Amino acid sequence: MAHTPRSLTPSSAFLDATNHAIHERMARAETPPSGTPEDYPGQSHLWSNTTRAAEEIAEELRDLALDLHAHPELAFEERRSAEALARVVEKRGFAVERGAHGVETALRAERVSEGFDPATHPTIAVMSEYDALPGIGHACGHNIIAASGVGAFLAATAALGDTDARVVFLGTPAEEGHSGKEYMIRGGMLDGVDAAVMIHPFSFDIASHAWVGRRTLSVTFRGVAAHASSQPFMGRNALDAATLAYQGMGLLRQQMPPSDRLHAVITDGGRRPSVIPGEARMDIYVRSSLTATLMDLSSRIDDVLDGAALMAGVSVDKTWDTHPMSLPVRNNETMAVRWAVTQSARGRRALPAGVVPESLAASTDFGNVSHLVPAIHPMVKIAPEGVALHTEEFARWAGSEDGIRGLNDATAGLAQVIIDLVSDPRLLLAAREEFERAGGEVRVERATS
Ligand SMILES: [Zn+2]
Ligand SMILES: [Zn+2]
Repeated sequence: MAHTPRSLTPSSAFLDATNHAIHERMARAETPPSGTPEDYPGQSHLWSNTTRAAEEIAEELRDLALDLHAHPELAFEERRSAEALARVVEKRGFAVERGAHGVETALRAERVSEGFDPATHPTIAVMSEYDALPGIGHACGHNIIAASGVGAFLAATAALGDTDARVVFLGTPAEEGHSGKEYMIRGGMLDGVDAAVMIHPFSFDIASHAWVGRRTLSVTFRGVAAHASSQPFMGRNALDAATLAYQGMGLLRQQMPPSDRLHAVITDGGRRPSVIPGEARMDIYVRSSLTATLMDLSSRIDDVLDGAALMAGVSVDKTWDTHPMSLPVRNNETMAVRWAVTQSARGRRALPAGVVPESLAASTDFGNVSHLVPAIHPMVKIAPEGVALHTEEFARWAGSEDGIRGLNDATAGLAQVIIDLVSDPRLLLAAREEFERAGGEVRVERATS
């Protein structure tokens, strides 16, 4: 007989209070500087060239975004989507490399001026994601990311004329639950790149939003199977270790920093009650807002798992980073301010860091990019406040006219930031200095060693 608790609906009181606080902070938040052509040489004629170029391809980008939305593909299987992106780029005369940097569904194209010298001229990369989620399609809106990356590359290159610079378009697959960008980084994706940009759709416009780092962990406890009735004393129960570990992690949560997240499922806990489980398996995700706190939390989890195994008298095998870890996103504020200026020119107010709280954060493999080069990952509002990523509702917004408006503003904004970085050496230098002050280059391999 089924027993239903009085209400299955979690209280929205915390979310309501959070949203109220966001609005209070929004009212007080600084409006981004408007930016003048004298301060930002790139903004004048090149910006209007960019806007015009973006408008010229708007219809094609819309078709691309809606086509991807109608044909969602999962991580590492985005063959049709990658081909659709490649065709739009090739139509403008660029050679597109498939299988770039060692990932089958990855793409790369470049615009390089005739007099380009990597020692003195800048290289800026713009990224497109295009994977979807099982069952709910483009519920993370990567179709909008995909089309905006293509659009920004084409609009920026059209506006640049013969300016000496390199602009790199990167199609970066397998963000959801994997780390496509980390594989591409190991394949040389960022070699020679000075700065990187991409956007993510959301329910707020935000210039710098927190994205927490994430590690994955697969665990197997091994004990001794036995008849649960006739000889339980001859067994060592692996499921006991899994449940002790699960509870140990639950208790650990009280001591974690508020932005840390810890989730676990038991994927194998035995087959029949009459058999003491000789094996049990768990999958665990560990998240934190700083690389150092992520590593600290990881070592606490190691202890909990070892302790659980010791108590149950079983062995434990831990495989960390079954997919390479995602570092937290390190937003480059120097570049984020330029993003906010582009968005205010489009009638949007991209909020600074701290208005939307860090607690509303997920993870992205772009974190790894942002620890190797100065980078931004701003959020573009395409859905009403309160609509969360990874929901059917967000998927609908990713195929809506609001989604297309976000795409157009993102395309122009990214292209203009690229133009600014290319045409204003002081901006790129300031972005680099900020990156060094924030700790400089961090490679995932170094973070885990
Ligand atoms: Zn997602
Ligand atoms: Zn996403």
